[in-house]
Amino acid sequence: MVIKDYLKRTIEEKWAIGHFNFSEDEALRAIVESAAKLKTPIFIGTSEGEKKHIGIKQAVNLVRAFREEFGIPIFLNADHHKTLEGVKEAVDAGYDAILADFSAKPFEENIKLTKQAVLYAKSKNPDIIVEGELGYVRGESKIQKEIIEIKTEDLTKPEEAAQFVKETGVDMLAPAVGNIHGIVTSSKESIDIDIISNIKRAVGENIYLVLHGASGLGGTDLKNSINAGISMIHINTEIRVAFTEALRKSVAQMPEETTPYKILTPSIEAMKKVIEEKLRIFGSINKI
Ligand SMILES: [Zn+2]
Repeated sequence: MVIKDYLKRTIEEKWAIGHFNFSEDEALRAIVESAAKLKTPIFIGTSEGEKKHIGIKQAVNLVRAFREEFGIPIFLNADHHKTLEGVKEAVDAGYDAILADFSAKPFEENIKLTKQAVLYAKSKNPDIIVEGELGYVRGESKIQKEIIEIKTEDLTKPEEAAQFVKETGVDMLAPAVGNIHGIVTSSKESIDIDIISNIKRAVGENIYLVLHGASGLGGTDLKNSINAGISMIHINTEIRVAFTEALRKSVAQMPEETTPYKILTPSIEAMKKVIEEKLRIFGSINKI
């Protein structure tokens, strides 16, 4: 099945595809092994920074190798690409999906640049999935100790979402619905379920909504978001934290150990625990 078939099913059957990021082999292995065990289709993303670390050709070919080895639907996404050059590079390298993120630009310019990204991507690969972002999702993929205040003007307006998807031709939309990137410790992340429902109604059945910054959100928020029309959920910080916490422990517990894979294996197990827990909440298990 192609990506669109799975996206369609998320709406019909009320579940969401998990999207997890990687920048090295350990996270990629943890994501794929979890997805294979639970028989779930999976999106794997690299931000521009993560892509630079692993290498763009390496990312595409590593994912291909895992896809062949495990035989499950794994889709590679260029997460939050903020320039047309970056988008083109990912499309040309063979990414299955891209997030052309011009949400920091004014509305009209966001439409213009996103539309250019869509035209380029589809001309090179008609099956590619393009996501746009509208509204302002604050924060970064880390533990946020400072207070992050979400302003009303940050949130995506349903009527603008409808205009945005119509004029750009995107397949998926990342709205700002009260979500914050990273794990927030000093602020309260509160998802506005009504806004999700209103945006979904405004963009229609065939445009799929993506919830970013879901690290740190509880199961109820996640399930309500799915019921309101979210088709894909991004988790990054929670697996980064699992990776680094396990790594710090390994290094402390094995001060004499110099074999990298022995030091890193507990990190893979720690990430798998988080990923599997999320996939169960998303309801995507046994959907292959
Ligand atoms: Zn994001």
